[in-house]
Amino acid sequence: MNPAAPRSPLFSREMRFAVHAVRTAALLAEKIRTHEKIAPLTKKDQSPVTIADFAVQAYIASRLEAEFSKDPLVAEENSVEVRKKAKEEVLSEITRHVAALLPSATENKVCKWIDRGAGGTGQRFWTLDPIDGTKGFLRGDQYAVALALIEKGKVRLGVLGCPRLRFDTRGPRGVLAFAEKGKGSYWGILRPRSSRIRRLKVSNCADPSQAVLLRSMETNHTNTSRVDLLRKKLRMTKKPMLMDSLAKLAVLAAGRADVFFRLPSANEPDRTEWIWDQASGAILLEEAGGKVTDLHGRALDFSTGRKLEKNIGVLASNGRLHKRALEALDYELVSNIR
Ligand code: AMP
Ligand code: MG
Repeated sequence: MNPAAPRSPLFSREMRFAVHAVRTAALLAEKIRTHEKIAPLTKKDQSPVTIADFAVQAYIASRLEAEFSKDPLVAEENSVEVRKKAKEEVLSEITRHVAALLPSATENKVCKWIDRGAGGTGQRFWTLDPIDGTKGFLRGDQYAVALALIEKGKVRLGVLGCPRLRFDTRGPRGVLAFAEKGKGSYWGILRPRSSRIRRLKVSNCADPSQAVLLRSMETNHTNTSRVDLLRKKLRMTKKPMLMDSLAKLAVLAAGRADVFFRLPSANEPDRTEWIWDQASGAILLEEAGGKVTDLHGRALDFSTGRKLEKNIGVLASNGRLHKRALEALDYELVSNIR
């Protein structure tokens, strides 16, 4: 079966669409990364954004408009910055890349497609992070194109395109990972010609001292001193894996690491998470047998708008380690975090 478009009756039309759209978009992002000299723009929150973020959002929004025209899209980027006169060249670059996939693309259409991402969060909507881990993308490290479908506040399906990830050491780089509620988690090679898909399954490590911990590469995206404390408390002896983006959740789902804490950073202790930063990774891990909650052990609630307003932080694990990790965290929370 081709991972570009799994045809098995196991998968819904939405899933087949999402797999194809994410695969195409992730290959576009990687083409831009390898062929273009990228000068990132800086957003209001000081985070970087590139032509690849905009091109991926425009492409996927356009495909959604064509295939599921009634479904809203809730996505990270908007066109305000690239519509400015001073950014003419940036918009022209983005349009050139989108037009390579969609020949009808014009600058005006590209802006409109990007702004489809301002959709409302109702009973059913899609959520997209066009490039999760833009800092990783810029360094040539891990990043992910992340698309999910939310229904009634729960994730129904999620797809991650991770062009820099490698599960099979003999195979090429690039992983496409996808999961649909009740149907399991799968991965295949991102490149179109490959055909095999395999199931994702979490590790069965139940002993924290033997567990591999994942952590954000960017130290200001988490609270590194508290992560270190938690490692000590859980007597974790193995070297942590530092990695950008939701690729971390794919690595957990594949059983190559065991636990991940997303702690609010010390200077933003009340920071809540964007839905697009969690949705696809959460279903991928759960369908692989793992568990995702917030730092209090509560289920992630995707019914609260663009952010997870009812949750704080994220704890993701292989399931077997979840209780122990929560117990260790509880002490941290009560004493320190909030
Ligand atoms: P990671 O690759 O795990 O470091 O996470 C990437 C995500 O971190 C991005 O998608 C951002 O939404 C998020 N992020 C950006 N700035 C911050 C910050 N100051 N604190 C916590 N998370 C952040
Ligand atoms: Mg992100």
